[in-house]
Amino acid sequence: MKKVLLLMALIIAVLAFTACADTPAAPVAPAVTEDVAEPPAEEPAEETPADVVETNDEEAEPAAPSALQMDRIVLGTNAGFPPFEFIADAGQGRFGQYSGIDIAIGMRIAERLGAELVIHDAEFAGLIMELNAGTIDFIAAAMTIRPDRKEHVHFSTPYFTAMQYIVVPYADTTITSVEDLAGARIGVQLGTTGEFFVQDYVDYEDLLSYSLIAQGFMEMRRGGLDAIVVDSVVAMMFVNQHPDELRIIRDNDAFASEHYGIAVRHEDTDLLAVINEVLEEMLSGGEIDALFGYYSERLNQAE
Ligand code: GLN
Repeated sequence: MKKVLLLMALIIAVLAFTACADTPAAPVAPAVTEDVAEPPAEEPAEETPADVVETNDEEAEPAAPSALQMDRIVLGTNAGFPPFEFIADAGQGRFGQYSGIDIAIGMRIAERLGAELVIHDAEFAGLIMELNAGTIDFIAAAMTIRPDRKEHVHFSTPYFTAMQYIVVPYADTTITSVEDLAGARIGVQLGTTGEFFVQDYVDYEDLLSYSLIAQGFMEMRRGGLDAIVVDSVVAMMFVNQHPDELRIIRDNDAFASEHYGIAVRHEDTDLLAVINEVLEEMLSGGEIDALFGYYSERLNQAE
């Protein structure tokens, strides 16, 4: 009896061991390779083997997010916010006609996922709605992390610190701080932190909210605006292009620092993890600083 039991135990143990050894080894490994190979298979057949080889070569990379498979990923932005996103001169875009720090970040995210990047250029004020409607997969638009926005999206690690600056016509002598904005005709970008600030804290005469802040700067140069309230770096870009016509006023007591984050839908936690990984690499490797330096120089030379 004892012998029979022992034998049965042995048989069960052997069977269990064989099952364990077989199941993961055979079907799982090829399935993973096939999944990786599939997205580029949309391309002509000859290109596929090269792509597969490349993917396999990179297997040693840390924490490859293989759980997330996307053929294409749509970046939502508002391409009128240099140096973060703008439409480049013919042929000079980092991605098609689009260029900028956020575009470069988006390219790195798509590359990490092995996905094709698609850019959806839209009104800044509508980006969060578009994300939750599924038109876009993530927002890279110099978007400030705010508690009210967090109710609708998840933000990445902060990747840039900014604040609001006031821009005035060069010859103006009346505006030296936020307090002096009382009674002024002010331009802002629609749905931005600049607009929220002016609405909440300034007793303005007129508040004009533009889809593209470039329209506000044009209006100011025509004499139609007393002040523009906009993100610091963007203010610097526009003022540096017209240093004889525009001037920056800073008010560190009135404006708080703001941190930019990439936004995803609440449920897309896997995508957020990949984005954070890419951002942390770009931040610690000094890549974001380098991009900022590159664009500052290049855009300042524009005129
Ligand atoms: N950082 C500002 C905000 O989040 C402006 C962003 C933008 O206009 N692209 O509201």
